Amino acid sequence: MKRIAIYPGSFDPITNGHLDILHRALEVFDEVIVLVAIAAEKKTVFTLEERVQMIRQATADTPRVRVDSTEGLSVQYAKAHGAHTLVRGLRAVTDFEYEFKLSAGNNYVDPSIDMVFFMAKSLYNFLSSSTLKELYFTGVDISSLVPKSVIDALAKKKRQ
Ligand code: ADP
Repeated sequence: MKRIAIYPGSFDPITNGHLDILHRALEVFDEVIVLVAIAAEKKTVFTLEERVQMIRQATADTPRVRVDSTEGLSVQYAKAHGAHTLVRGLRAVTDFEYEFKLSAGNNYVDPSIDMVFFMAKSLYNFLSSSTLKELYFTGVDISSLVPKSVIDALAKKKRQ
């Protein structure tokens, strides 16, 4: 049976930290669906379609990856798409607390779906989408932190 995992997140925008987690998840799972989820509490710079598009461009040459979006819960999406695992990345202790609660919440909704965590590479340990945007909009070179498609998309946002 094909082992399918869901990698859910806001991806506003996708960074090399996210991509590193994705590539490592592909070592463990047969297929990974990167799922752009709507987080009601987060105001995003990029629309859902823009975020999906950037991930599609960044993963165009990576086999066994699909990109999708949902307005519902990641656990519900997983169930509907034959996946039993959600993949997430862990950076610092603050991530742990958030993820710990998230996994308990997910478990309440559907105990048949489990979560698997990958530790952030030290190179990307500081990197979040919000840090990335802050660096970019203050003129810092971010070319080693994101794929080219994201730099282009950020430049377009800056001009708007
Ligand atoms: P969310 O809003 O759901 O936290 P994010 O797009 O911020 O979505 O992150 C999605 C997942 O990727 C989270 O599990 C987050 O901890 C992880 N992640 C984000 N940035 C990195 C990074 N630099 N290294 C490893 N994991 C990361």
